[in-house]
Amino acid sequence: SNERVINFGAGPSALPTDVLEEATKGLLNFQGTGIGIAEISHRSKEFTAFLNDAESHIRTLLEVPPTHKILFTQGGGSGQFSSVVLNLLARHRLLHPELKDEERVMDYVVTGSWSKKAMEEARRLGRGRVNIAADARKYSKDGKAFDNIPAHDEYAFSADPALIYYCENETVDGVQFSDDLGSPAAFPFHKLQQGGLLPLVADYSSSFMSRPIPRLADHAVIFAGAQKNLGPAGLTILIVRQDCIVDVDAAAKLGAVPVPIMLSYKTLADSKSLYNTPSVLPIYIAGLVLQKMSAGGGLQVYAQSNRQKFEKVIAALKKGEEKGVFKGKVKEGSVSWMNIVFDVPGEGRLQGFLDGAAERKMKGLAGHRSVGGVRVSLYNAINQQDTDRLVEYMNEYAATVV
Ligand code: PMP
Repeated sequence: SNERVINFGAGPSALPTDVLEEATKGLLNFQGTGIGIAEISHRSKEFTAFLNDAESHIRTLLEVPPTHKILFTQGGGSGQFSSVVLNLLARHRLLHPELKDEERVMDYVVTGSWSKKAMEEARRLGRGRVNIAADARKYSKDGKAFDNIPAHDEYAFSADPALIYYCENETVDGVQFSDDLGSPAAFPFHKLQQGGLLPLVADYSSSFMSRPIPRLADHAVIFAGAQKNLGPAGLTILIVRQDCIVDVDAAAKLGAVPVPIMLSYKTLADSKSLYNTPSVLPIYIAGLVLQKMSAGGGLQVYAQSNRQKFEKVIAALKKGEEKGVFKGKVKEGSVSWMNIVFDVPGEGRLQGFLDGAAERKMKGLAGHRSVGGVRVSLYNAINQQDTDRLVEYMNEYAATVV
């Protein structure tokens, strides 16, 4: 069929139709150069100007201070699982050359399957020791599920770690830190060592650009793959504080693991993200999305709309729960705005729900293969009408099941 459906997929995900239409023009002829965007040199003045413009939209929209660089790379969120470890261990080595490997601690907050994967990569790679600062599974209903953000008392951070890692939004499990710093589900910034430059790392892959980033300036590294709120896969965005852009070769001379040239933040920063050929087409589409966001009133407008979408779906979920038709998986207060996960209990019911959605031209609602159930992803390109269509269907479904 030629008709587009509503795509609630978790990533890659829906992009704004008007941006895609604009991009098809650029694919044939980028900014009147007579050359398509997938064909033009990444060193052409037109493309470098476009890249700089995309960067400045991010800087303005997120209010990124001059202490931090914005870098573009490839390799996705998974690539950063390795990069943050190598770069921040190198930084720690330069700061404390006298420490033994086992004295170099990396604190990981494990709240879901993505932070768990990142932690496992640190264990694989690091000449350092992983400390689990908190593991949300301990506080879950069954002792196994990632269904909550732990209470602030449960975090045990190390003194002077090489890095402190958390995943702001767990895409598979549907748990997210609150952006309200007064909430018990907010990241416990107040429990971190005060003063000095914290090596705080956040994976924002699935919430980047959906709302402002609390305490952005206190982060060492924020990273995100583009393929949720921003653009196609193939582009990874980094916000790196300048003291974390270190001479990794000097660190290697002191015994740190040598860092592959493409993974070194210094390589990316020194070359203004053009050390090698960047992902030109994903950058183009993400740049168009960013232009649209700025023209549409900025991040607060999206944040407000995203909150509304979230509240609408949660209301429908609650109604279904009262009837015993749906069952939310995440503890109240820890539920993600971006990925809402729930079960449809009963033989064949889940498939029935998904089939009914597909008949109504709504797709991408199946939960991650590791957890099953339903996952509703409400990224920026999903608008209020799209959300209303889903809510209407959820209510209708709940009413017909007896
Ligand atoms: N972190 C999070 C929170 C994610 O959602 C994902 C991908 N869905 C990743 C990391 C891995 O990203 P990538 O597939 O870009 O490597």
